[in-house]
Amino acid sequence: MFSNGGIQIPGRLPLLLTHEGVLLPGSTMRISVDTPRNMQLVKSRLLKGTSLKSTIIGVIPNTRDPEHDTDDLPTLHSIGTAGMAVQVVGSNWPKPHYTLLITGVCRFRVSGLLKERPFPLAEVEQLDQLEQYTATEDNTAQDGELGELSQKFYQAAVQLVGMLDMSVPVVAKLRRLLDSLPKETLPDVVASMIRTSNKEKLQVLDAVSLEERLKRTLPMLTRQIEGLKLLQKSRKPRPDDDKRVLSVRKGGVFPGRQFSLEEEAEDDDGDDTVALERKVHGANMHEAALKVCLKELKRLKKMPQSMPEYALTRNYLDLMVELPWSKSTKDCLDIRAARVVLDDDHYAMDKLKRRVLEYLAVRQLKTTLKGPILCFVGPPGVGKTSVGRSIARTLGREFHRIALGGVCDQSDIRGHRRTYVGSMPGRIINGLKTVGVNNPVILLDEVDKLGRSLQGDPAAALLEVLDPEQNHSFTDHYLNVAFDLSQVIFIATANSTATIPAALLDRMELLQVPGYTQEEKVEIAHRHLIPHQLEQHGLTPQQLQIPHDTTLDTITSYTREAGVRSLERKIGAICRAVAVKVAEGQKFPKAEGVTTEGVTTEGVTSEGSGQEQGDMAAPPEMPIVIDHVALKDILGPPLFEMEVSEHLTLPGVALGLAWTPLGGEIMFVEASRMEGDGQLTLTGQLGDVMKESAQLAITWLRANAKNYQLTSVVGGQDPLEGTDIHLHFPAGAVTKDGPSAGVTIVTCLASLFSGRLVRSDVAMTGEITLRGLVLPVGGIKDKVLAAHRAGVKHIILPKRNEKDLEEIPAKIRAELDFTTASNLDEVLNAAFDGGFPGTANNTHTHTQLTSKL
Ligand code: ADP
Repeated sequence: MFSNGGIQIPGRLPLLLTHEGVLLPGSTMRISVDTPRNMQLVKSRLLKGTSLKSTIIGVIPNTRDPEHDTDDLPTLHSIGTAGMAVQVVGSNWPKPHYTLLITGVCRFRVSGLLKERPFPLAEVEQLDQLEQYTATEDNTAQDGELGELSQKFYQAAVQLVGMLDMSVPVVAKLRRLLDSLPKETLPDVVASMIRTSNKEKLQVLDAVSLEERLKRTLPMLTRQIEGLKLLQKSRKPRPDDDKRVLSVRKGGVFPGRQFSLEEEAEDDDGDDTVALERKVHGANMHEAALKVCLKELKRLKKMPQSMPEYALTRNYLDLMVELPWSKSTKDCLDIRAARVVLDDDHYAMDKLKRRVLEYLAVRQLKTTLKGPILCFVGPPGVGKTSVGRSIARTLGREFHRIALGGVCDQSDIRGHRRTYVGSMPGRIINGLKTVGVNNPVILLDEVDKLGRSLQGDPAAALLEVLDPEQNHSFTDHYLNVAFDLSQVIFIATANSTATIPAALLDRMELLQVPGYTQEEKVEIAHRHLIPHQLEQHGLTPQQLQIPHDTTLDTITSYTREAGVRSLERKIGAICRAVAVKVAEGQKFPKAEGVTTEGVTTEGVTSEGSGQEQGDMAAPPEMPIVIDHVALKDILGPPLFEMEVSEHLTLPGVALGLAWTPLGGEIMFVEASRMEGDGQLTLTGQLGDVMKESAQLAITWLRANAKNYQLTSVVGGQDPLEGTDIHLHFPAGAVTKDGPSAGVTIVTCLASLFSGRLVRSDVAMTGEITLRGLVLPVGGIKDKVLAAHRAGVKHIILPKRNEKDLEEIPAKIRAELDFTTASNLDEVLNAAFDGGFPGTANNTHTHTQLTSKL
């Protein structure tokens, strides 16, 4: 058989455990590999780089139920077949796996396991002797009973083949092979061809002696012949019938065997392709796609299953029939209901909700509208994703989110061509397959985090997806036929517009979603986050109550964010802690002041509540109310304390307001001076614009030193004389740039040079010019909210930003004083107690804007 010249298999073999049947010597089998152990074996033994190493591995049938396959090695079947891997194909879809084509060489017995991880390696004893075989050798050399048995088997095999249609070339070849193969190999070869169960095949594998093997396989062979006789009696054979009894698989590539046959009753591919064909016709795809599918189907039918391409084509067709070519949900838009849904799902964000309603209303009036793509821009955790989900809900559409953060390969969007091993469709097509309709709401999350790499620009691919002129015939590389995306509603989200590729930005309508005020957060917590978290943790309001004060405490002392994401996490932490107590049926620690009325009376425990130490059995008195002692107990010491006034106790410190993609921030600017020759040092991760602002500030102060009575350390006119200056912007990990710190730097330096303290409750923002004018800046709402969060009372901002104050909730405005300044004189005057010497006090426009607005 194998021109092996007395092949000796290695004494140690890596073992591949398979559920997929029994490999017998002389037959070829396709094995799909996806368990970690087997994957590891393939990677380190069969593949080196990407080329196939020719290696013999041991294949052991795994008799354990795959469902119960765990991490540890099952008891090994003691006999296996050494096999030669002739082909390895890897794919990532639907999950990472390899498909191996393996030809069995000979039996072996496991005599000892050398190691189990990462894949089992065993000491083995070769069982079948692989003698050099030549066609001229006398095959019938066996004597006695064995020879007789062997002869009987041979005749039966000949009879079986004789019943098949000889005009099929493979059948004719099989007939010839029966004569040329050594007789002792026939039982294995025939057993793997005919209709046998895995259990029977296992018996054949275990039959180590030839006699035993013949005895076991002969009845199977006879059974097959009888079955075929019956079949042929009942209907006149057509050539096709042969194929239905024996599916012929051309291997062709492996040594020693030109083909192998495998019975196909267990997984009837004939019927399978018929079913697939039915599905192809039923998938309602457009004509071009149908044509491609039918062509592929035709190819598939002709392909032997062992060919790696079979699986690829099959996967492709499976995807094609699953795609929602013309399946869609019907929009059930009722604007009034939509308003209710949006209001129910979200507190505050009125401007955004209004715009979303307009968008929906226009869609209702004109369904074919090719409107702009909405893009929600704002810090994390302000509800951008959640609004997207509500839009889908109001329309009765499916929702799918695609995270674009870090995507830097265009095939992520557009798919891989099918010629690649492991090729798969892009995320858009995958998403459509998941939702099963062609008109979902697809949320493109974090478009500002798209990357770029050598693999092409994903933004360009995304453009094609979003462009209403093109997207009705979007072509995914994997599908290679157009798919109509025009019914999909795309919505995008971003933290900042600065990094969104310009071409994409052009297609989108930006809707700012600013951060929330503390009061809004408290409301959001009580209307949405707490009920949601209670439900998630299986708790009820009768078990856990969080008073408003505690929520506010959580917001100010444990979170510092524009959105509510970490607030939600903190509430989750409280729920977990309480859930444990409830589950244990145990009381909360004494100090937290639980009362039956749900009112916190700190430090006092209600009577008869059984809070004595060690009282494990008594159920907790409900509800458990979280007061601030309990809060500290659960969340630990406060993470953020009011620190503003502490900082502003030295001359040369001022508080600025900055905007970051994560929301507004307060930012201290510190300056100090020492003996030197007028050098300026800047530290704290600054961008170029910030450095220029610092230069501007110094120049302006020097030019106006006389006016403001600023002197140098040695008493001269130039404050820089004999002095080096160091400006530092703490919170160094964050890169800071932008012009809006100009006024803060001037104030900080003026404080340093004059030795006067900046007012401890003032924060400011504004760009400056060389002539001392104050120019408007962006992000006012976020900045004001950040200042309010930090306990600042007074804010100085550019005059031309006055209109932005309207966006700030009245309640917050009422708690703050605003000074709008058009020049630095006004800034300095407001920043120092009692004004700044030399400023024109009478032009000081300290406005209580709250009354005006
Ligand atoms: P984003 O997408 O902006 O990062 P998410 O939509 O994921 O934020 O929101 C985070 C969490 O906060 C969600 O549980 C969401 O329901 C909740 N949330 C945010 N804003 C609101 C709001 N205005 N009303 C109710 N819940 C909100």
